[in-house]
Amino acid sequence: MNDFDSGRPVVLRGGTVLPMDGHRVLPRTDVLVTGDRIAAVGQDLQAPQDAVEIDASDGIVMPGMIDTHRHMWQTAMRGYGADWTLTQYFVWFYLEHGRLFRPEDVHAGNTLAAIEALDAGVTTVVDWSHGLQTVDHADAAADALQSVPGRYVLAYGNIQQPPAEWTATPEFRDFVARRVTGDDLLGFQLAFDVLGDPSFPEKPAFEVARELGVPVTTHTGVWGATSDDGIKLMHEHGFMTPETIYVHAASLSADSYHRIAATGGSISVSTESEQSAGQGYPPTWAVRAHGIPVSLSMDTSVWWSGDLFSAMRTTLGADRSREHLEAHAKGETVTHCGLRADEVVAWATRGGARALGRDDLGTVEPGKKADLVLIKNDASPVSFPLLNPFGHVAFQAQRGDVHTVLVDGRVVKHEHRLVGVDLAAARRQVERTVEHLRSEMGDEAWEKGMNPEIPATKILDNPYTYTDYRSDSTHRL
Ligand SMILES: [Zn+2]
Repeated sequence: MNDFDSGRPVVLRGGTVLPMDGHRVLPRTDVLVTGDRIAAVGQDLQAPQDAVEIDASDGIVMPGMIDTHRHMWQTAMRGYGADWTLTQYFVWFYLEHGRLFRPEDVHAGNTLAAIEALDAGVTTVVDWSHGLQTVDHADAAADALQSVPGRYVLAYGNIQQPPAEWTATPEFRDFVARRVTGDDLLGFQLAFDVLGDPSFPEKPAFEVARELGVPVTTHTGVWGATSDDGIKLMHEHGFMTPETIYVHAASLSADSYHRIAATGGSISVSTESEQSAGQGYPPTWAVRAHGIPVSLSMDTSVWWSGDLFSAMRTTLGADRSREHLEAHAKGETVTHCGLRADEVVAWATRGGARALGRDDLGTVEPGKKADLVLIKNDASPVSFPLLNPFGHVAFQAQRGDVHTVLVDGRVVKHEHRLVGVDLAAARRQVERTVEHLRSEMGDEAWEKGMNPEIPATKILDNPYTYTDYRSDSTHRL
């Protein structure tokens, strides 16, 4: 029962299966995995004699979740920026800590982020790796991703240099030749932003992507940083493709959404990020009206959480909040929610697969890759009654409820414990990174970076006085 590495078939018995091929729920259903694929989905399946049996009763079996935008290297400073705005993040990244990351620090962050993702049932992550100041940093990022048994896409970026420069270096070309090998568990994209300069200095980098045949992912619609101008440049030069992932897209005009919809790309919504950093309002309420495909992402654990349960929950909340707000502004009442729980679960699974052009991921169907999650926690009072499985995933479940995870047919977490992952070594690596950054920064700057100044809050004058019925005196509130 412990031998998950032997390539034995695996059968998940009697779970509530969410195939995510529509809106179906399959009660008391088995999922049989042989090799790297789902072999069968059905009731009372015959499994090969040597199959590992996993009891999925009272649990939910769903596709592994897919995060389409996470700056994994930053996990080395988990939680440091909880009270930042985007402006403070830029100072940290461009001028302070970000520059101090050595290759081993990128390795430390990526390793921990990769482990964290698996633990939370996120089986695929796009590592939006824009801290690759040298190719040594890039090798460290790729090494870390290949050391943890999940599925990743290295989206190569270097924010310290214009994209036309770093994509033109022989070292970068050499990296691509060495490391982009068609490994099914490690995809490759280019990651850079289009700043809206009318001379379009990013054009040569797009041409490199086209020549390499790899997609570009780009932060767009980020208030004060990237705007409609960047979308227009990409559109006019023919660089908007169905493979393009537009991150945030939170402060764009209808015209930009039309251009994205017309060219077939998708938007990666990072609601936790957009709600507190200031890119713009989480855009699903607008994006849905344009029929643009959506996937979900967490952005960075230096600020926020790294699990897609939070993404689903905050995205539903933000979308509904906006719908109510818009209606109230017109004196109207929303009587039926437009966005449903099953749709955000689809965004967290099938939506990510679609964004990555991976037809073989994101659903529980025979023939698909066996990237699976079992949500089951018999010790939790939140595990029952299981009436609405989509609602359960979106609003009730959390990462501690992730019982079993398979990636590419391999069990990487079972009975709430990671399998074949050295968490202690990851901890030691991260401790060394924190020590390095802290000593380079100095204690004062370190503390200041973590605790930005709070602007003064003006308490408004209150026109009311109030006389309590029990009192004959008048209080000024
Ligand atoms: Zn980002």
